[in-house]
Amino acid sequence: MRVAVFGARSYDKEFFSAENQNFGHELVFLEAHLNATNATLAAGFEGVCAFVNDALDGECLAKLSDSGVRVVALRCAGFNNVDLEAAESLGISVVRVPEYSPHGVAEHAVALILALNRKIHKAYNRVREGNFLLEGLLGFNLNTKVVGVIGTGKIGLAFCEIMKGFGCSILAYDPYPNETLAANGIQYTDLEDLLKKSDIVSLHCPLTPETYHLIDDEAISKMKDGVMLINTSRGALVDTSSVIKNLKSGKIGYLGLDVYEEEGDLFFEDISNRILEDDTFARLLTFSNVLITGHQAFFTSDALKNIATTTLQNLTDIDQGNACPNRVTSDLVKTTQKEK
Ligand code: NAD
Repeated sequence: MRVAVFGARSYDKEFFSAENQNFGHELVFLEAHLNATNATLAAGFEGVCAFVNDALDGECLAKLSDSGVRVVALRCAGFNNVDLEAAESLGISVVRVPEYSPHGVAEHAVALILALNRKIHKAYNRVREGNFLLEGLLGFNLNTKVVGVIGTGKIGLAFCEIMKGFGCSILAYDPYPNETLAANGIQYTDLEDLLKKSDIVSLHCPLTPETYHLIDDEAISKMKDGVMLINTSRGALVDTSSVIKNLKSGKIGYLGLDVYEEEGDLFFEDISNRILEDDTFARLLTFSNVLITGHQAFFTSDALKNIATTTLQNLTDIDQGNACPNRVTSDLVKTTQKEK
């Protein structure tokens, strides 16, 4: 199939080109993010490959359809940026990559915990400047600490297993508990109890209307003083203004973020030559006990390989008229909780 790969970065080109040796699609890589304004770039392509920041609303999809596009292959799990009903009415198939690196994301959450606890980000700079003082670098043993895990799906499960390896006690909250985890020494409890008892709280649930600002003033007030909060899930699970207030008071002792509620204007771009206009994000950057990465938890070579292989297989399935297990339909959205 002839496919326009929108928003393509060097790593997308590398992994898709390598995996495509096994599929033989004709891939054309475009740097632009797909939206209604530039959808006509897809003229002459049967497929488009899109990512999280592409905007496939009704107008964009109508233009894609007029250009001859019949499949949208998302190289991500989320599909909140596609108007599925519009796609269906235009006869455009939408496919995605539902799972690509649960271990990679879980390991990144652990990397944030370790770095924050042992202040690796500070130590790195100090040593480079010839400052070998230890004051300000004091950490704590993870062994025996209580880790609260909110959401025990694929990533939460991998995270629990790693933290168990450190000798932590795991408390979990999930409206749909995983019986295997419960049988393996992970204790399920309600959210309030988890927040009260945990030294570290790590978020691994999806963003839905129910989980929007799950961590707000009220939730933080229930947490231990000096708690460590980790969010590698979705930015808007956390009310950033509440978090800033509680960092200032010392209630939150450590904050590790891979996601941010207004990340759409910042992440995946180099804006180092521009003025940072987001005052809230700028305030977060002033705290030495806050460590932020730019939505890179998924970013491992294993994940990129899986993303490329699954996306190319999805395209082949649609091209050959096979049943594609990774097809997304509006029915699927109605029967599962849709991420915002
Ligand atoms: P998953 O669907 O396997 O698991 C999500 C779990 O959350 C499920 O067990 C579900 O029952 C639970 N859940 C739903 N509502 C909840 C609530 N109100 N409170 C507590 N738990 C709730 O998803 P996953 O693959 O484990 O991914 C988890 C999240 O990680 C995704 O939703 C996504 O937002 C995020 N993610 C981030 C990155 C990254 O690079 N930072 C990459 C992939 C996924």
